[in-house]
Amino acid sequence: MNLYASIDAVAADRGSAPAWVVPGRGTWTYQDLRSGAARFAAALRERGVVAGDRVLMQVEKSPEALLLYLACLRSGAVLVPLNTAYTAAEVAHFVADAMPRLIVADPARRAALEGIAAVHDGMRVTTLDGGGGGEFSAQAGASANEAAARVEPRNDDDLAAIVYTSGTTGRSKGAMLSHRNLRANAEALVRLWAFTAEDRLLHALPIYHVHGLFVATHCALLSGASCWLLPRFDVDTALQYLPQSTTFMGVPTYYTRLLADPRFGREQVHHLRLLICGSAPLLVPTFEAFFQRTGHRILERYGMSEAGMITSNPLAGQRIAGSVGFPLPGVSARVADETGCEVARGTAGVLEIRGPNVFCGYWRQSERSATEFRADGFFITGDVAIMDESGRVSIVGRVKDLIISGGFNIYPKEIELEIDALEGVAESAVVGVPHPDFGEAVIAVVVTTRADGPSEADILAALAPRLARFKQPKRVIFVAELPRNPMGKVQKSRLREMHASAFQSPTRGRPSHEV
Ligand code: AMP
Repeated sequence: MNLYASIDAVAADRGSAPAWVVPGRGTWTYQDLRSGAARFAAALRERGVVAGDRVLMQVEKSPEALLLYLACLRSGAVLVPLNTAYTAAEVAHFVADAMPRLIVADPARRAALEGIAAVHDGMRVTTLDGGGGGEFSAQAGASANEAAARVEPRNDDDLAAIVYTSGTTGRSKGAMLSHRNLRANAEALVRLWAFTAEDRLLHALPIYHVHGLFVATHCALLSGASCWLLPRFDVDTALQYLPQSTTFMGVPTYYTRLLADPRFGREQVHHLRLLICGSAPLLVPTFEAFFQRTGHRILERYGMSEAGMITSNPLAGQRIAGSVGFPLPGVSARVADETGCEVARGTAGVLEIRGPNVFCGYWRQSERSATEFRADGFFITGDVAIMDESGRVSIVGRVKDLIISGGFNIYPKEIELEIDALEGVAESAVVGVPHPDFGEAVIAVVVTTRADGPSEADILAALAPRLARFKQPKRVIFVAELPRNPMGKVQKSRLREMHASAFQSPTRGRPSHEV
């Protein structure tokens, strides 16, 4: 059950229909995709890659990069996609962990990666021709015979990819994803979101992450749809191609950037049947402003590297701002306490999930993997959630972002929602930092919508009647923008580091009797 075989069957059927259209570079038909994947697979074989070998890819987004992914599937190799923002020192860590047979880089990174590979026996580096030169190209090498070689048979449990988690709360770990994991998730999403060959998806997401590499790419390929493949998201290009699309997938930042542009309105999206958002929380004001401006209710879904997509708001049915919807068909979800017992509906707890999409554990960390699964197979996501009576899920935050101040548990989201609702506030992030009396103290980092926005005193005064004293921030810090990773997630670990010494002197915090 090689996932590539399913993609290949659709591609054979679609033939000369466009699969990927890259502005400025041209069109890759489904037939091009089949022959390109076969040639790349042959080129992998020529470089000694066999089934089960890891192939680490750190390249800019291009159709060739996606062909390399398909070639890995086809030949049974395990793709390890890496964020292009990682420095050589960071890549060295991933290389030593994943121990790939082959590293595929952009030509500009070749020298640095060769230095990293040199300390490992038999590890090779090659460059990808993503339109700007490079030895690994869809035209090079591979005779017709080699290119016609069979699709490597795979068991459902064989690995297809190792995706390193974004590490916003700690050191990145390699999530092992099997052919079954990817297939089950992709098939569920195609059905749930009703993708068909008529769809044209605007694909502006990066491809080193599950959102762009799996969710967007698979939905289009398994339904025979076509994609506008943009190297990255920018508002000008999106405004140009949205009117010629039927679907769009983005992280919340894409939507806020569109809304910030006065040119953006109904005309750009009236052809779209579906706009999907995820990878970070979509703020309620963004959902509402988008509806006001365009008449579209963004469909928010929730997922993670370890499981692909987990919940989704419905295609037909109510999409509720601040909620990530219902578990996908085939996925079981419960909100549990620290022992794994389900808590009452409406109560916050940790979301645990089980299903064919849930990963096979962390690469080379079997002990750690074991502690993150319950005996009955549920994976402990680490996300704090609330499930209502109907099974609808809302994400409240990460367990590791939980603040314990003066012995009280505080969920940052509750405070953030109160602050975000204040006049003149654009957004906020609440974190706990060390405090001599309380252990941790709540601080709020706030972005205002205008220079004469609310002051610290205004915010504290507004929160006082609304939140218990122990939840009220001990300090409000104003910033121009919150630190985010490329997927739009606020990096709370960075905020904690930046403000770690805010209360180093006991005189700067309030005394403990005020808790
Ligand atoms: P990653 O593995 O990088 O995809 O990060 C997964 C994490 O992103 C999840 O565990 C959540 O904390 C967060 N996340 C993803 N989608 C959403 C969403 N729609 N709302 C809130 N958090 C989300």
